[in-house]
Amino acid sequence: VTPEEPNFMPNGPGALLGVIRRAGTITRTELVAETGLPRSTLVQRVDALLDRGLLRVGSAAPSTGGRRAATLEFNAEAGVVLGVDLGATHARAALFDLGGQQRAEVTGELDIRKGPDTVLDWVDQASNDLLAQTATAPDALLAIGVGVPGPVEFASGRPVRPPIMPGWDDYDIPGRLAGERRIPVLVDNDVNIMALGEQWTSWPSADHLLCIKAATGIGCGIIIRGQIHRGAQGAAGDIGHVRLAGHDDIICECGNVGCLEAVAGGRALARAATQMGLDAHGSRDVVELVHTRVPEVIALVRQAGRDLGTVLAGLVNALNPSVIVLGGDLAVADEHLLAGVREIVYQRSTTLATRQLQIARSALDDRAAVIGAGVMAIEHVLDPAVVDRELRALAAV
Ligand SMILES: [Zn+2]
Repeated sequence: VTPEEPNFMPNGPGALLGVIRRAGTITRTELVAETGLPRSTLVQRVDALLDRGLLRVGSAAPSTGGRRAATLEFNAEAGVVLGVDLGATHARAALFDLGGQQRAEVTGELDIRKGPDTVLDWVDQASNDLLAQTATAPDALLAIGVGVPGPVEFASGRPVRPPIMPGWDDYDIPGRLAGERRIPVLVDNDVNIMALGEQWTSWPSADHLLCIKAATGIGCGIIIRGQIHRGAQGAAGDIGHVRLAGHDDIICECGNVGCLEAVAGGRALARAATQMGLDAHGSRDVVELVHTRVPEVIALVRQAGRDLGTVLAGLVNALNPSVIVLGGDLAVADEHLLAGVREIVYQRSTTLATRQLQIARSALDDRAAVIGAGVMAIEHVLDPAVVDRELRALAAV
């Protein structure tokens, strides 16, 4: 999350908190050396963070022979956030501390087509249950992150004509979920939050990462310079409707022909398997057939990997990521999707772009999105501009 206010202080309390989080533990003297701030200014800013509870004095202080200097560390227990992953037919909510440690989780079968009232009632209930279950005071909940299976205008948290979410167009999700609590609620599409979850958990040093969700639909979360890249209208990464050559006989739900999703998405593979006389209704059935080693279906998934790889090869040349993570139902189909993607990407992308490129399967599987939703909320709460603003507001009281 980028700083919300351009005028956040480069060495303000929020920025100091970032330095301390990265360092793990650090003394005031080391902070003075690192930031160049006058000691009195630094002590004042550190005290404000200590008062707010975002910092604590460390237990283990290294001895240098003389007086032991107290270390400072980030207090991950200063509050909690709620991460929510709303899928087409399935929902998951989890409570995390500010260090990203999960405290508790709840899942449910929930059809997104039931509309905002029903679905967000479930989220409210889940939130209350999780707080009660972990004996967490309701006012310790500092932010909510939500992922939805459709395009979102990130600034307002409102879905934009989401194809599989009838009744949600332009719905004010933050307004409804914040209610009287007036806490920040951030909403993004599921693929973007999956990318955040994957990066935070498995690839913390990868600043340029692509995360693919290959399921009924196909989408791509793009991280550039450590930030989610949403594009001008929030539509970046919608690779499911890139046209593949040679498939003009296949009409996509979007009205165009030869779209990647219509050729290699879960529904297309299930249809192809059905034409072979097999029983498959969606991507999960296809994966099931791969696991039972039906050779024709393995070949289908492998070809889907190649088709996906064809589109990804172009993205690799354009964006030069260091990591591509494959997630979604179809990625669980053993190594076959991955093998197809690798085959084409390494063959079609430029040598320089692929020299350091790693292509891997998600280690989080269906938990990437809920973790990413939590991470999105944490990064907002700890954003330097947000911390500075909050401490200014507290000081003004
Ligand atoms: Zn299409």
